[in-house]
Amino acid sequence: MTHPFLDLAPLSAARFASIEDRVARLLNTRQDVVIMQGEALLPLEGAIRGTAGPGTTALNIVTGPYGQTFGDWLRDCGATVIDLAVPFHTAVTAEQVRAAFAEHPEIDFVSLVHAEAATGNTNPVAEIGAVVREHGALFYLDAVASVAAEPVLPDVWGVDLCVIGAQKAMGGPAGVSAVSVSERAWALMAANPRAPRRSYLSLLDWKERWVDAGRKALLHAPAQLEMLALEACVERIEAEGLETVMARHASAAAATRAGAAALGGGLEPYVHEAREAAPVATTLRAPAGTVASELVARALASDPTLPLAAGGGALAGEMIRVNHYGPAATPGTVRGALTALASALAAHGRETDLASALRSADETWI
Ligand SMILES: *Cc1c(COP(=O)(O)O)cnc(C)c1O
Repeated sequence: MTHPFLDLAPLSAARFASIEDRVARLLNTRQDVVIMQGEALLPLEGAIRGTAGPGTTALNIVTGPYGQTFGDWLRDCGATVIDLAVPFHTAVTAEQVRAAFAEHPEIDFVSLVHAEAATGNTNPVAEIGAVVREHGALFYLDAVASVAAEPVLPDVWGVDLCVIGAQKAMGGPAGVSAVSVSERAWALMAANPRAPRRSYLSLLDWKERWVDAGRKALLHAPAQLEMLALEACVERIEAEGLETVMARHASAAAATRAGAAALGGGLEPYVHEAREAAPVATTLRAPAGTVASELVARALASDPTLPLAAGGGALAGEMIRVNHYGPAATPGTVRGALTALASALAAHGRETDLASALRSADETWI
């Protein structure tokens, strides 16, 4: 009996290389792009362990939960870590990064998350990249939650290690991911005695045995289904047009923000400034006297298909997340989320104006 997921022909090295090329085109990069056979945490960790060591002084910018993790890996590598943390309702500024360099001129590594799906903010990478370049530091960027939701331009911004995953705005699989690597990042890894080698975390293995060997033979059997899903999702983005996909995300964020403000009932955007709000997902502050996770549970009871979640960990009480990404970046999802939140607020005795919220959302959709 045939099955769509089973008994597939092996994925050839040529097909694998062509998927890498398509991902490189999506990022508009001439750097090497390596597709890693695991969720994005694999290249995120592999890139830090490959390039950081006891001689590294890292500026680790924390604008959400992932920055915390990067700082832990950096410290584990023996790096001296300077954490620059900003409140989750805001973004970091290029001026703050410039001030950190002024105070610590020895900084030679900067880690940054572009957009934060977990907290709903997005950071000005182009401006920060200019500061990082001025000081010659290596620039590491987590673009998992920004790729396909807003421009990600590693070459233009001088990003040395740019990690993406397909599971957010690309609307693809979570089980494979990619990283673009600059020449100087490769050189740093090659010179780093502690860089993972003959290891699943190793980027160098892919450099030496795949990229430099002309991409003729894979290191091990690839995650075939995930690779096919990645190819299909890039194809779908190419067919719709990357600009159109990004515009859908920008509209979903703007419409959710405007709709929530018009809804009333004490609901407010979590990220104060609209320009610092991520296109990938919108976070809202639950009204005083309510619990975000309870509102979300009630909203999901009215429509379990909606991409609503409460904030993680300590944020569960105050933060509502509308994950309007990938196939959910549509007017229907935004309207559905506003409608479900209105009924959840009503159940908590809050007065809302759903008609006005839906009108605002519709008018804001570009
Ligand atoms: C989603 C995301 C990742 C990947 O983590 P998962 O929780 O496994 O999806 C990494 N970095 C950022 C900024 C993300 O938003």
